[in-house]
Order: sequence, then structure tokens, then C-alpha cells
Amino acid sequence: MATLLGMEELDIAALMPGEPAWRARQVYEAIYNKRVETIERINGLPKALRASLCAEHSVGHMARASRYEAADGTRRYLLSLNDGKTVEAVWMPESTRDTLCLSTQVGCPVDCKFCLTALMGLERNLTAGEILGQVIHLADDNNLWADKKRINIVFMGQGEPLLNLPNLLKAIRILSHARGFGISVRRMTVSTSGIIPRMAELAAVPDAERPRLAISLNASNEDQRRELMPITRKYHLSDLIEACRNYPLRSWEKLSFEYVLLNGVNDSEADARRVARLLARINCKVNLIALNPGPGIPFETPAPERVARFQEILRRSFPTFIRRPRGLDIYAACGQLKRMETLAQIG
Ligand code: SAH
Ligand code: SF4
Repeated sequence: MATLLGMEELDIAALMPGEPAWRARQVYEAIYNKRVETIERINGLPKALRASLCAEHSVGHMARASRYEAADGTRRYLLSLNDGKTVEAVWMPESTRDTLCLSTQVGCPVDCKFCLTALMGLERNLTAGEILGQVIHLADDNNLWADKKRINIVFMGQGEPLLNLPNLLKAIRILSHARGFGISVRRMTVSTSGIIPRMAELAAVPDAERPRLAISLNASNEDQRRELMPITRKYHLSDLIEACRNYPLRSWEKLSFEYVLLNGVNDSEADARRVARLLARINCKVNLIALNPGPGIPFETPAPERVARFQEILRRSFPTFIRRPRGLDIYAACGQLKRMETLAQIG
């Protein structure tokens, strides 16, 4: 059965030929803004239309396979897809804003050596409806409404978002639409390992529909990046930096660079100075992440002093933050999303 989730107004209008245009708007608003769970609950639909919609469609909310809660309040969700696979999403509450970390693929085809998701390989792309289904599930479970509390969305869960760009962009159009979820693109960040041709496609998206961009840098020179992120053999670091220099930023925007610190590998003072040189003249900020460990990951987390020293050097050139890991104890932190059934569930 096809799902309404993932459809834009024009897609919905095509399901009901002969109906006035406002009918599609009404359905769109009901499923994304009011988040109704079934077609029966859409108010004001004529009976015959409701019956014909129900015959071949469901809204498409996702069932939960499991949910884990960390000591810091972070919740990790494993959600069931129609084909029996599962996908992960994370809710990170804070006092002034909540952050949703979403997946764009099941697994990931990019072979980064420090990331648990990489060990899964790629199972498949998520549809736009499955990307939105994560938002709906987390929002419903935690009573989140965009007009009540600030919601940030980061596409930093499983998968390489830019390798699923059409579905990602469709989901973002619906998330940012006033009659959809009403979350501004300023509050959405897409993180990429550096798929250069897809970055150019993203750059061409209209401003109102284009999220912020973060680049997972993770190395200070070409050879080191090839070792840690073999995709660098295809998309060279030098070309990636060039693409970043040319990336069209809006007046309110900086490019973000993510840098996972691996003890004794890419976290020396010389590395920090090289990173500062690489990113010179790019309007950016840097987020440092001390490695979140996991089974099968052959690296160590650096001591806090090393992380602080790295930050100190970069800070002279750019705003540089240390990302506090969220949900470490439930494997919800960056790079840890991979189905693991050994954790205690909260239901
Ligand atoms: N595939 C995209 C988005 C998902 S990964 C990307 O790579 O950008 C989100 C972030 O987690 C990336 O910046 C990545 O470098 C980081 N990361 C991956 N494994 C990690 C680990 N074990 N510890 C800390 N950060 C990690
Ligand atoms: Fe994929 Fe990102 Fe993990 Fe690399 S860091 S394997 S691109 S999810």
C-alpha cells in the first residue's frame, strides 16, 4: 500500500482528479502539520473520496521496533520499514531547543574507518516518506511542535545524505513548508563526507529550500584522509576544499566542518595548524568530536587535554566548538548508529 507521507501537494492532487486544489492542501496540512495518523482522521473529506483514498493508501506512520533512553535524556529509536528493515533516529532534548538526528539511508556505502555505520554497508536509500516518518514518530512520541519549541534537524544519522539527494530534498521541502512541518531550513543541517558533484547540485537548490551544509573533514591532509575516508581517492581533499571555497553561502550562513579526533592519528598540534591553513578564507565554523568508540573501530578517543589543545589552535582562526557526545551509553552518539540488540530497551 502506498503512503501519503512523502507526497507534496501536487502528488496528492493527482490522487483525486476533479477535486478543487484546496482539497490537496487540506490533506497535506492534515498529514504534515496536524500529523493525523489515519486517512479516516482527516476532517471534512467527502465520504466517497475518503473511501477511495483509503483503498490504496495509508498515511504511513512507522512502527517502533525499539527505543532506548540514555542517562542524559537522549532517546534512540529503531523504526520499522515496510520491507522488514529498520532505521534509526535520535531525539536530543535541551532546555531551549530539541535536535532530531535523522537517517537518510539504511546503512552507508561510504567506508569511513572510524564509523560503525560503515560496517553495515549500504542496504538501501530511504524514501522521502521514510525520512519524514522519522520526524513524525519522534515528534509524536515527545510531543514536539515547531510553533512551541525550537526544533533543529541534523541529517547525521545513518547514511550519506548526498547519495540520496532527490528524496532528501523532497523531505526538506515538506519539512520547511509552512503548511507542512514549518521548520525553517536555517534549522536544518545536512552533513556530507564530501560527494563533490552532489554538493554542486545542492548549491543550485532555491534558498528557501536549501538546508545548511556540514562537511566531515576528519583529516588534515590528502594521505591521512585517504586512509581514514577512502572516498577521498575518488573525491580528493584538494578538490573538496575548492568546492567549499566556491559554495554559495547565504548572508546568515557559515559552512560547518566536522572533525572526528582519533588519538595519535589526526589530533596533533601540527594537524590543527594544517586544518587552519586548509580552511583559510572559508567562512566557516568547526565542530570537533572526540571519537565515540565502538566494537570493531580500531581507534582510540584522545584525552580531553589533547582535544582542548586542538581547539585552542583552531580557535585563533574560526569559531571552534567541541561536540559533547549525546547518548553515548546507548550507542546513539555520532558514528554509532548500527543495529545492536544488546541494550536495555525502555519499551
Ligand atoms: N554520512 C554523513 C552524515 C552521517 S555521519 C557524514 O559522514 O557526514 C555524522 C558525523 O559523525 C560525521 O561528521 C562523521 O564524521 C561523524 N562520525 C562518524 N563516526 C564517528 C565516531 N565513531 N565518533 C565520532 N564521530 C563520528
Ligand atoms: Fe557513512 Fe558518514 Fe559513517 Fe562515513 S561517517 S561511513 S559517510 S555515515
